Amino acid sequence: MFKVLRCSAKLGSKLSWPVQHLCSRNIACLAALPETHQMLQKTCRDFANAELVPNAAKFDREHLYPGEQIKKMGELGLMAVSVPEELGGTGLDYLAYAIAMEEISRGCASAGVIMSVNNSLYLGPILGFGNDKQKSEYITPYTTGDMVGCFALSEPGNGSDAGAASTNAVEKGDHYVLNGTKMWITNGYEAKAAVVFATTDKSLKHKGISAFIVPKDTQGFSLGKKEDKLGIRGSSTCQLIFEDCIIPKENILGKPGYGFKIAMKTLDSGRIGIAGQALGIAQASLELAVDYSQKRMAFGKPISKLQAIQEKIADMAVKLESARLLTWRAAWLKDNDKPYTKEAAMAKLAASEAATWCSHQCIQVLGGMGYVSDMPAERYYRDARITEIYEGTSEIQRLVTAGAVLKEYAA
Ligand SMILES: Cc1cc2nc3c(=O)[nH]c(=O)nc-3n(C[C@H](O)[C@H](O)[C@H](O)COP(=O)(O)OP(=O)(O)OC[C@H]3O[C@@H](n4cnc5c(N)ncnc54)[C@H](O)[C@@H]3O)c2cc1C
Repeated sequence: MFKVLRCSAKLGSKLSWPVQHLCSRNIACLAALPETHQMLQKTCRDFANAELVPNAAKFDREHLYPGEQIKKMGELGLMAVSVPEELGGTGLDYLAYAIAMEEISRGCASAGVIMSVNNSLYLGPILGFGNDKQKSEYITPYTTGDMVGCFALSEPGNGSDAGAASTNAVEKGDHYVLNGTKMWITNGYEAKAAVVFATTDKSLKHKGISAFIVPKDTQGFSLGKKEDKLGIRGSSTCQLIFEDCIIPKENILGKPGYGFKIAMKTLDSGRIGIAGQALGIAQASLELAVDYSQKRMAFGKPISKLQAIQEKIADMAVKLESARLLTWRAAWLKDNDKPYTKEAAMAKLAASEAATWCSHQCIQVLGGMGYVSDMPAERYYRDARITEIYEGTSEIQRLVTAGAVLKEYAA
């Protein structure tokens, strides 16, 4: 069905940002978005309503990986949105990816993060820095939803301080020997391959980090503890353990010492995806709050007639819409080969804080019903929280933003 979208995102992506994208997100008001993106949004929304919304509570309750749905998302082209068609991807742009991430995450934030890690954290660096052989071996089979990949940067001893990696890779003849433990790895349990960051020259600090593609079946590669999490419980998060793991030199991504650069570039674009995930959670929270407020009666009228509730609805809508515009702007800048590090950090910061805030307010609008698992509000609240932590905490997004702003104003 979605193959029709494997055309091109050229439609509109080269036009100027304000003309193309200053429009309300409401699905009925998307006339200003390129036709491809409107089709994509509707397809993703229909899919999420049919396949994710009815099952998300179960995935959460049972910590269940949504394998069947991920496969269907692969068939729709959603597991490799921005990968060129010749490599098996959908060939759309990052604006399309951000829109798809929002719609999928509105239905199920766990499916959203599984999609995001495969698209931007696993396929992204291989597409950007891999050679032709690596691309055909480690991209194409991962575009269909049958297999997912993961991205292993964080360790037990360092997360925000990614340059302090203690996992090391020692060069020996035609291979490297990898030792160390990676922590918090999304998709780690199901992934058939990982992009792994390890120090190849400690004296060079972050400039001595290299990136490797490591298939799951490599000897010495095993899985450690699977985390029991607050939210996004349908996605796996676990340790990856490397013990004298032999990695052929041909599996190095880019050049030795390029790892930190690859990780930072990957996270820049990954943040647009996580912003999309956060928007989806915020959107779901707003929709639920509006719907409930119109049905719930108090003091003889629907609570939506109360100004105290209307204020919450207004503030939710403002935070959501402004974060969405920041997200679409960051995607547009990337699609047009313009610098977007600051804008991606701003988008992720605004969208993740909007998701936390909107889901908090959603619980308040629902009162007691917001606090129990009969309604999805409490799940939205739990799912939202991680968007302020992974792919750079809110504190790190503020550091990136402030650094760029101070530089701009000093110039
Ligand atoms: C569910 C989940 C999934 C994840 N998925 C992945 C994955 O797929 N791959 C991967 O590599 N990692 C993943 N992570 C790791 C995630 O990216 C890190 O948890 C995150 O970057 C924060 O690192 P940390 O937990 O070590 O916290 P720390 O870096 O120890 O930070 C602790 C606190 O100190 C603050 N802090 C740290 N440094 C500064 C600073 N310079 N200025 C101001 N404040 C600072 C932080 O903002 C935070 O509030 C995941 C984490 C979780 C929980």
